[in-house]
Amino acid sequence: MISVKDLSKSYSSLVALDDVSFEIAQGEIVGLLGPNGAGKTTLIKIMTGYLHPDAGSVRIHDFDVMDDTIEVQKQIGYLPENAPLYPELTVQSYLTLMADLHHMDPDEQVPQILEAVDATGLRDRLSQRIGTLSKGYRQRVGIAQAIMHKPALLIFDEPTVGLDPTQILEIRSLIRHLSAHSTILFSTHILAEVEALCDRVLILLNGSLRSDAVLRELQGTDEVILVLQKDVANLHSTLAQLPPVVKVTRESGAQDAVRYRIGGDGHQDLSSLVFRTAKEQDWPVQELYNEVATLESTFNSLALAG
Ligand code: ATP
Repeated sequence: MISVKDLSKSYSSLVALDDVSFEIAQGEIVGLLGPNGAGKTTLIKIMTGYLHPDAGSVRIHDFDVMDDTIEVQKQIGYLPENAPLYPELTVQSYLTLMADLHHMDPDEQVPQILEAVDATGLRDRLSQRIGTLSKGYRQRVGIAQAIMHKPALLIFDEPTVGLDPTQILEIRSLIRHLSAHSTILFSTHILAEVEALCDRVLILLNGSLRSDAVLRELQGTDEVILVLQKDVANLHSTLAQLPPVVKVTRESGAQDAVRYRIGGDGHQDLSSLVFRTAKEQDWPVQELYNEVATLESTFNSLALAG
């Protein structure tokens, strides 16, 4: 449904995006995770046709964002970071104005606005001025304008930034509700948000896409750490013969000890298998334990790797 290919963008000498590619299928809810300055907003602005890349392409359905910007924008509901809302307008007049800007058919405006305010819990706020709404409710207005033309894809840029904990939970619950019927890409720098909402996560660091993975896979990658008092010659060749072992990495150990990280294919109890093998081979085992990867540990190891 969405194809981002070889996207690059620099601001003078600063590389904000470096050869980023990924695809999103219909119905997915994808988190775009990265620290401040990682390039998330730049990527989203290019995907929504508000910024030109230096290289690469974005296609949504059959439309190219640069050749058919208007068509692509019709397919997208976009909630920018700091959505521009008009504080002096009521919710109803703001949404009517946005419906006009979206070139919505006049006959469809009223039912679609009502559907959007019902989905976002704003029905009893229609006549309230936006400037008098709480931040969480203002964000709902931004989401209502993003969904009211029934776009195929929703893109939210940091939808919970600046909200209090209760408002954050409300907006997350709203996004979860919307995901039942829409494809969603949202950016965040909050790991917990990705874990709470997404099927899949794209990790962006310094403009590069460092990971594109189904969350379940990232969270479920168990690895075994084997620490030996001293190195043994046949370790790699012995472990490589065990079918579930997919990688063995030697890491530095304390003093003379040697530490190995052993990754499996996830189908067997790897630590028992390594334990039995070490015993059979009479390796000088000092420690053996499972290390369960979390999104946080994956993110940290990617960030540390630079
Ligand atoms: P944040 O979470 O802080 O919004 P981000 O991941 O969205 O960060 P971007 O806003 O895309 O990151 O910025 C990526 C890099 O490009 C940053 O170093 C930023 O300072 C820089 N940058 C963004 N917009 C411009 C601009 N118009 N001119 C110059 N540099 C820019």
